[in-house]
Amino acid sequence: MDGPAMKPTEQVERALALSDAGWNNCQIARELEVNRRTVSDWVRGRSRLRRPSHTYVSQQARNRGTCPRCSNRASENGVTLGVAPYSYAYLLGLYLGDGTISTHPRGVHRLRIFLDRRYPVLIDECVAAISLVMPTNKVGMRRHKEAHMNEIYSYSMHWPHLFPQHGAGPKHKRQIALEPWQQLIADRYPGRLLRGLIHSDGCRALNRIRHPKKTYVYPRYLFTNRSLDIQRAFCDGCDRLGIEWRQDGPWNVSVARRESVAVLDRHVGPKR
Ligand SMILES: [Zn+2]
Repeated sequence: MDGPAMKPTEQVERALALSDAGWNNCQIARELEVNRRTVSDWVRGRSRLRRPSHTYVSQQARNRGTCPRCSNRASENGVTLGVAPYSYAYLLGLYLGDGTISTHPRGVHRLRIFLDRRYPVLIDECVAAISLVMPTNKVGMRRHKEAHMNEIYSYSMHWPHLFPQHGAGPKHKRQIALEPWQQLIADRYPGRLLRGLIHSDGCRALNRIRHPKKTYVYPRYLFTNRSLDIQRAFCDGCDRLGIEWRQDGPWNVSVARRESVAVLDRHVGPKR
């Protein structure tokens, strides 16, 4: 059977990238020659993305995995990227912010991302990103005992390859350095990285400044993480997009200038 020229995962990735670049669903549908409603589902991170495994991925790909270390995918500047770098950039942000990898018997690992269940759209987006990065494996979800939190998880032998920052103890107590292939993805899609970081460890809040005659209210973003390395990843992403940031206490980075908030609004926006 002849497959399509482009694998569906790559197609979804391209659709998301075009949407991010300001294309509307009609334009994307024409460009990729797919149904407009399908594009609309992809862009909104709907349930169709949740189980691409059985329909989308060949047995060969399933066996080899989709990870940059184990697959024989073509490399770029000597660096091998995974199947879905656009979604990976977002997932990397989520992982660095509030993700963890636990070890299970026979070399299996579980990626766990903890998200506030008051934001269902955000949870859908996380599930979709994991499905695209690891299309062979299903994504599960359960309520975490901590208030308001859902744990989104996926089992694979390859998670430590995809997130080599995996290690014992909390992230702020060890060095978190991105590998060259991760840095390449972070540099190419800084908006996606920032989106993941803010979705897990940040917020967009209204700041009030009171003056005797008037109270000023303006939106600002706050990113909070105890790891200086992860704070630096956030600030590097901001620098790439020309976003002005400032340190606000030992754990916070704040983005408050109007033009910079506008840039972040294009890539992140309020949590939903
Ligand atoms: Zn691997």
